[in-house]
Amino acid sequence: MFLQSGVNNMCFLRKYQWLIIFLVPFYAQAIDVNYCVDPDWMPYEAMVNGQHKGISKEYKQLFQENSTINFNRIPAKSWNEVTEFLKAGKCELTLMLNRSSEREQYLDFTMPYFFGPNVLVTTNNRPYVQNISAAAGMKIGVVKGYRLVSYMERFHPNLQVTLLDSELNGLLAVADGEIDVYVGSLLSITSKLKQHNIANLKINGWVAIQDELRVGVIKSRSAELLPILNKVIDQIPVQVHNDILNRWSNTLVVTETDYTLVRMITLGAVLLLLILGWRFQISRKVTATLTKKNAQLQKMSAKLEESNRQLEYISYHDNLTGLYNRHYFLTTFNHLFNDMQRQSHDASLMLIDIDFFKQINDKYGHNAGDEALTHLGKLLKKAIRSGDVPARWGGEEFVVLMPSTTENDVKQVAERLIQNIESYQFPIIAKLTVSIGVSQFRADDTIKTWLERTDKALYQAKEQGRNRIRYSA
Ligand code: GH3
Ligand code: MG
Ligand code: MG
Repeated sequence: MFLQSGVNNMCFLRKYQWLIIFLVPFYAQAIDVNYCVDPDWMPYEAMVNGQHKGISKEYKQLFQENSTINFNRIPAKSWNEVTEFLKAGKCELTLMLNRSSEREQYLDFTMPYFFGPNVLVTTNNRPYVQNISAAAGMKIGVVKGYRLVSYMERFHPNLQVTLLDSELNGLLAVADGEIDVYVGSLLSITSKLKQHNIANLKINGWVAIQDELRVGVIKSRSAELLPILNKVIDQIPVQVHNDILNRWSNTLVVTETDYTLVRMITLGAVLLLLILGWRFQISRKVTATLTKKNAQLQKMSAKLEESNRQLEYISYHDNLTGLYNRHYFLTTFNHLFNDMQRQSHDASLMLIDIDFFKQINDKYGHNAGDEALTHLGKLLKKAIRSGDVPARWGGEEFVVLMPSTTENDVKQVAERLIQNIESYQFPIIAKLTVSIGVSQFRADDTIKTWLERTDKALYQAKEQGRNRIRYSA
């Protein structure tokens, strides 16, 4: 390639054909060069995702394609490190920089191949600064090591200059009001403003010197490399220069991102979402199952409660008449009897027995007898008060314990009951009478003596002709 582009005299070629054939292998041998890139100087050059990008990359490409130079990049963390590496000879070349007397101590330069204006940047609210002389009395920031530093020291020694670590820090320092003006390259400033979305700054003046960017080569390699590089620069058509400038002056520089980290974070987030989703699905299933089981349990416990209620009812009641049964009556009787004894309250006991029920059964059948018993239970309930305890004592006999009841009260109840029964129209059997024995509680009574006395009264009612009430003495 080098020979193709560099040699265009065909006569010369023909004349020294044999010599060229002999020398080509030596000329065509690659020339290895270690070069360094400013990692943060877009659009001129920068490292993006570990890749050399920017204007200098395109020129490097041109140098590579049109010469035998083989470029090996030595990574550098900052422009300062690039400078250190160049001084130490670790880097032998850097692709884009301005010439300065300070740099000329350790570098030699190609002819300039790229030109860029330098500008003043201030906050939006500051009036037009025009040029660097008009910035007198203001705090001016420049990146340490940039050629502008020596330019200002030399041509504007009275200016108040602040040295900064990077262009971004300079722009942020203006935005934060720490300095008044930042001085730097137009192209890289506009790309930084876009890249970091800094809105309150503007280009507010021009600096007399413009960047004249060249390739810098360390002294020990310059004799060998500069002629080759200058030759390539000389042959770059204006159109190629313009295309490069157009591409990079309009490009919004993508923020440098560690995509490995982004990928890991994304993968992590996806995994986390999957795990959370899976957990959500499982917990939803578990919750659904639990809810179902709970509903079933609730249904079962409701059923159980109902069964218990029924059992309780059955265990306390007589299923034919709906009155309390003998067991419940005696339990309640025991309970109330203790109170009666302690407080010597009035209380009455009433035993009721159907007259000639055997004959009724015989005459109308057992079912008719049952129905009569049911009706009788209802009549009994109707006749007594809410605090009274009525029960089926057994067979066709009923008992009522009447707490807080005087002899007078119980007489009224018993008489009303006997009349109601006598006048009641029973199904099938039509008529039926009862005999009733009644007695009052005595302080020396036991349940047994009280029941016996009442039973005696009932016996007397039977003896004396039935369908009547007898009170114990
Ligand atoms: P008294 O007037 O002397 O009481 O005569 P009685 O026939 O009623 O007396 P007895 O004790 O001789 O007969 C009671 C009858 O009550 C016998 C039985 O057939 C009837 N009986 C007892 N329990 C039931 C029942 O649950 N259903 C029916 N239908 N009859 C019953
Ligand atoms: Mg009877
Ligand atoms: Mg009887």
